[in-house]
Amino acid sequence: MKPIVGILALQGDFDAHAAAVNAAGGNAVEVRNSAELQVVDALIIPGGESTTMLKLIGIENLTEPLAIFGKTKPIFGTCAGAILLAKEVTHPVQFSFNLMDITVERNAYGRQVDSTIAQLSGGDLKGPLAGLELEAVFIRAPIIRRTGTPVKVLATYNGDPVLVQQGLHMAATFHPELASFNPVHKLFIEGLKPSASKAS
Ligand code: GLN
Repeated sequence: MKPIVGILALQGDFDAHAAAVNAAGGNAVEVRNSAELQVVDALIIPGGESTTMLKLIGIENLTEPLAIFGKTKPIFGTCAGAILLAKEVTHPVQFSFNLMDITVERNAYGRQVDSTIAQLSGGDLKGPLAGLELEAVFIRAPIIRRTGTPVKVLATYNGDPVLVQQGLHMAATFHPELASFNPVHKLFIEGLKPSASKAS
C-alpha cells in the first residue's frame, strides 16, 4: 500500500510536490480543510509565503487540526513550510507550530542573493543522504540559525543546516520538488513505511 501523502494546497507550489511524491512511491492528495487532513498518513507543507499561509490556515480553521496532526503524524515542511514547523521564527517573529526544535530566520540570504541553485554533495550530505547528490533550489529562503539536540542535520549549505529531521518530521529550507535530481521526497516517503525506524 502506498502511503497517502497530503499536500497542503492553500498556497505555493503544491502541484510540483504532488508530482515528486508520486514519483517517489507515495500517493499524493491535496489537502485544503480539516476533513481532508484526517485521511492522510503524512503531510507536506510547501513553500510560498509563510505569513500568507498562516492567514489561510486560520481562515480554513486548520490551525488546531494541524497542531494535533503533527503530534502523531509526519510533516515535511519546505521553505515557508519549514518556517511553520519551527519552534522560533525571527525577522520578524511570527506564530509557528513548534514541531521541530529549530530557530529559523526568514529571508536570511538577503535580497541580492535571494534565489540560487546549489549542488550539494560530499560533506554537505549526511546520514541517509551521504554519498548522494542533491540539487537545492533556494527561493527567498530562510536560514536555520539554531538546532536543538533532538534535531538531526541531513544536509548543509555553506555550513548552515538546510535539511533537518526530528522524530517524525523533516524541514528543508530549499525546494526539493523543483530539483532535477531529488532524493529528499524518497527519504520522507521511505520513512512512512511501517518497517521504517521512527527513532528521534
Ligand atoms: N520568504 C518566504 C517566507 O518567509 C519563504 C519563501 C519560500 O517558501 N520559497 O515565508
